[in-house]
Amino acid sequence: MPDKEPLTKERLASFLTGLGAWDVRVADPHTGFEHAEPERHPLYIFPNCRSVVVFIVPRPVWSNNTAISLVISTEDTTDPSRLSLSNRLFYTPGHRTIAICDLLRDRVWFAGSDLLRQYGFEVREGSIQEKLCCVEAGLSVYGRSGVTLHPELGNRFIPGVFLSDAEFEPDSRLADFAPCENCRACVLACPAYAYDPAKMYPENWNRSKCSVKRTELAAKGIYCHECFRVCPAGTLDDRDLLTTREVVSAANLSDQVSKKRNRDAQQPNRTRLR
Ligand code: SF4
Ligand code: SF4
Repeated sequence: MPDKEPLTKERLASFLTGLGAWDVRVADPHTGFEHAEPERHPLYIFPNCRSVVVFIVPRPVWSNNTAISLVISTEDTTDPSRLSLSNRLFYTPGHRTIAICDLLRDRVWFAGSDLLRQYGFEVREGSIQEKLCCVEAGLSVYGRSGVTLHPELGNRFIPGVFLSDAEFEPDSRLADFAPCENCRACVLACPAYAYDPAKMYPENWNRSKCSVKRTELAAKGIYCHECFRVCPAGTLDDRDLLTTREVVSAANLSDQVSKKRNRDAQQPNRTRLR
């Protein structure tokens, strides 16, 4: 144990935010989660789980993985038209920045896990539904386009989740936050008309229309995720969020980014979409 003081939720949150987490909350695995896929429920992954600790790191404007942007080739892929769809998506500028944000998130996750383990707690990960965990922990709400929306960051964040047998007081779902109430921006921006404006996600979204349009655009070297890009939810302007340079500098990740990019480039079928 690192010192005699108990590991409270506040201490854990302060530790994680010191490393780069923007917000940290806790969900009770025994309450809610009624929409979890059975094999992705926290208690299925870790039956002794007492707390689902959820944190988010900001995603800067260049990582909005969504702007309609030209695919760029790399030194070893001189002809983008020969790349698989997933690689075309990966090689867009936004996706390269997502790799940096992923590393920041991983850094927070590994340090947090170490701390919990130093206190004798077990930590598990698995194919957890991260967006659902954010909603259950009161970090965000589901938006019309299927993204989840944080009151300050909107959809510009990446979540991380610890399943632990440490018991922390759970937070409740967000109340009085309804960013989609008077907004249809994602519906109107979609070039595939994949959203039914009269319904809410997931009933409103036609996956097939979306996939067909994205494939069609990708064949022209264009990456579409306009529904994400146009979302005005959140109080911060993109310019207020971390820049790529600041993220890299804060986490001192330049070398790791190169290594991760090289590793990922050797896994051609790996998709970068979340
Ligand atoms: S990714 Fe593009 S096509 Fe798919 S739902 Fe979003 S805006 Fe529509
Ligand atoms: S664009 Fe508007 S309607 Fe769509 S998810 Fe964002 S806030 Fe909700």
